[in-house]
Amino acid sequence: MNTAVKEETVRVFFAIWPDAAAQKQLAELAERLEAVCDGRKARVENIHLTLVFLGEVSVDRLDALCHVANKVRDAGVQAFDFAVEEVHYWKHNRIAYAGTAKVPQGLLDLANALQSALFAAGFAFDRQAYVPHITLVRKARCQALPELAQPIVWPVREWVLVKSGQANGRSGYTPIGRWPLT
Ligand code: ATP
Ligand code: MG
Repeated sequence: MNTAVKEETVRVFFAIWPDAAAQKQLAELAERLEAVCDGRKARVENIHLTLVFLGEVSVDRLDALCHVANKVRDAGVQAFDFAVEEVHYWKHNRIAYAGTAKVPQGLLDLANALQSALFAAGFAFDRQAYVPHITLVRKARCQALPELAQPIVWPVREWVLVKSGQANGRSGYTPIGRWPLT
């Protein structure tokens, strides 16, 4: 008899969600992008900015993960505004996304603080240079990209830990923790 028990894991990432007004504007931008690039626009409720992607984490480690986030919160990263000013296209993975011309220092501080604390706690993740991007259309084929008439700006006051995967029979994201900025 095979008595091996498969470890239960969840696919998780830290992210920032736009506020309601920015979410609406980003969804409209995704619609415009889809019209010029084909592909499949992100569902409005799924539009987000990833901070750190962890991938599969043992459910037994989720408490430790939240503890890391608590420490980062307690260190007091300053709140900041995020301004979407640009639309870009990555040909290699056919993703059209919203980006920013100047990455806010608060965002860099938060991503760095999370990466350092996660690394120190023994969590594995991809340590590539952080390129803030908000995926708007997948499987895109963009020849031209629409201009933004004005930036889409929102005040970032918290970050979230999100579970990625099936929930209620459909794939999506489920927030499992949230932490305020200072
Ligand atoms: P799907 O993979 O089913 O198309 P998704 O990409 O939205 O959906 P995930 O793959 O779980 O869902 O990714 C969650 C978030 O983490 C997304 O913002 C995604 O761009 C980002 N992400 C996924 N894999 C990586 C990775 N290896 N490095 C950095 N970010 C990643
Ligand atoms: Mg993915």
